Amino acid sequence: MARKFIVDGTEYPDPGANVTPEQFRQTMAVFKAELSNADMTTETVGEDTIYRFKKRVGTKGADCRLGYCATQKLNYGGGGSLATKGKLEKGICPICGGKLSQSTNSKG
Ligand SMILES: [Zn+2]
Repeated sequence: MARKFIVDGTEYPDPGANVTPEQFRQTMAVFKAELSNADMTTETVGEDTIYRFKKRVGTKGADCRLGYCATQKLNYGGGGSLATKGKLEKGICPICGGKLSQSTNSKG
């Protein structure tokens, strides 16, 4: 009985029996940010259990707005660093890089 972890078609070695699929996902998300909200499916083939992670497509930035990234489900605050502000001014979500659903360009 073995476990297999497949991320976007690439198979990764079992990180260890004491590592849960969720922990695997979180570890991988450090390198592949999109994994943090990827869909995980579990299937059993013979005696093997296959955990398949597939990043969601088409939702990137769809519901991101000023101060909140819907892709990462993360509040980042309106201010922040210069890099964050620069992206916000272009209507780009500083977290996932998606397009903001609505850019607020209020000057006052
Ligand atoms: Zn975002």
